[in-house]
Amino acid sequence: MKIKAVKPFVLHVPVTGSQIADSTHTITHWGVVGARIDTEDGLSGYGFTGTHSHLPSDQLITRCIETCHAPLLVGEDASDVQRLWLKLARNPALQWIGRAGITTLSQAAIDIALWDLKAKAEGVPLWKLLGGQVRDKVRAYNTDIGWLSIADDLLVQGARRAVDQGFTGIKIKVGSTVERDLRRLEAVRRAIGPDVTLAIDGNGKWDLATCLRFCRGAEPFDVYWFEEPLWYDDVKGHAELARATRIPTALGEQLYTQDAFSEFFSQKAIHWVQPDVTRMGGLTEVWRVCETAHSFRLPVAPHAGDMSQVHVHLSYAHPACQVLEYIPWIKDCFTDPADVVDGYFSLPQLPGAGTTPTEAAWKQFQKPVG
Ligand code: MG
Repeated sequence: MKIKAVKPFVLHVPVTGSQIADSTHTITHWGVVGARIDTEDGLSGYGFTGTHSHLPSDQLITRCIETCHAPLLVGEDASDVQRLWLKLARNPALQWIGRAGITTLSQAAIDIALWDLKAKAEGVPLWKLLGGQVRDKVRAYNTDIGWLSIADDLLVQGARRAVDQGFTGIKIKVGSTVERDLRRLEAVRRAIGPDVTLAIDGNGKWDLATCLRFCRGAEPFDVYWFEEPLWYDDVKGHAELARATRIPTALGEQLYTQDAFSEFFSQKAIHWVQPDVTRMGGLTEVWRVCETAHSFRLPVAPHAGDMSQVHVHLSYAHPACQVLEYIPWIKDCFTDPADVVDGYFSLPQLPGAGTTPTEAAWKQFQKPVG
């Protein structure tokens, strides 16, 4: 499994409808920015990170893959995933520049491509390589019905439709005004009844005082978790909020290292753990976070920056993973799409990590790497 070449790629894939918004961003496309790794024996592995499809930023990632990471990989044995993760994390060319953001997103794409290669070489889906199936089914929750940009009546209709399709969990965005968001939360809870889990996501917009006011109003509506209530790195604020409300808190999509998660765990600042393989240097580091979360007996609900293509393998294989996010924007770009049937993710069947793009995806969505 000697590595022959590492090549970056960019796909820009439209979101549902013409655009969506949360409390901090409005986007029209999802960026699938990644690496293809070819071995001398003719295998190709694919890995990617997720972006807001801003081409100049995406090209910073592709440039990092091509000029900083690739030279350390060519000639190496692709099956040495753990050793190569350390080699890239300690890349002298990235000292001081890295440990978060561009360098870590680039490393995520490479790490996922290496896992994809390893599973393909063994002829098994990644979940099997990770130790096999620990649960019969992975429960999906639908985020795509809950954007802040969706009008109140359409939000309620979408929530009902998701439940009719078999979803037992949904998530809606908050972070506009306390009054509007409480009104929407109450309307959705009324529409879906008491048996469907209903999470909310603030995307880090509010301060502690606003969160406390919101939570007092939201507690009667049985909120499953409040995701990113506060600024992403604010451990003390999350710990204070977790003590002050009966609503469980969740966070992780903006954390880049296992050390950052450990700080939230030890301060009892979050109840749900949301690492993302596309953000924190790949599956290798996320697996470590899942192990640590499990040692604290905290449940993991991976954040789907990959739109669950890789996380579905993790969720079938790791005992800490309880539920997985569903957003369908990019799934049809892959030969083994992360499909949901009757509210549960199908068990992936093809060898690899589910990251191989289809010919149609290349033709339709490919952008220049710079
Ligand atoms: Mg979120």
